[in-house]
Amino acid sequence: MSDNWMIVIPVDPVAAPPKERTKAAFDLLCALRSEAQDAELHISDTPEFFDGGSNFESVFCPFCQTDIWDWWIKAIDEWRNGTNHRALSAEMPCCGRVTTLNELDYVWPQGFACIAITLMNPDSDLEPAERQQVELALGLPVRVIWRHI
Ligand SMILES: [Zn+2]
Repeated sequence: MSDNWMIVIPVDPVAAPPKERTKAAFDLLCALRSEAQDAELHISDTPEFFDGGSNFESVFCPFCQTDIWDWWIKAIDEWRNGTNHRALSAEMPCCGRVTTLNELDYVWPQGFACIAITLMNPDSDLEPAERQQVELALGLPVRVIWRHI
């Protein structure tokens, strides 16, 4: 048995939308994917990392497209062991440009967030119009992560 989780997070890793907006987005997602199981709302004070499980294949520099897997393994370890989880800033090992761990080119998408809505085994990805509805409810642009376990 394997499961697929759809994880919806704000694009902004430190965004903390009001409770009623978070609840509205949660209720909407539950209604849009009523076949899904175990819907959950995660809220934390500092960003958590939401990964794609076995869907995570590779990671590239967003500026020059260099494969930065080896660097990333150390960077995510340092972040996990660090005391300030809001510190996501990262200097690329390839071209020296500065971005954040949240804005790397992950295949498939992954990200950091203080709130996340997770649904187990929904039938399909969000259609663009559905995604827009969710963003309107939450009041923020979102990123959709598919975690395969
Ligand atoms: Zn680069």
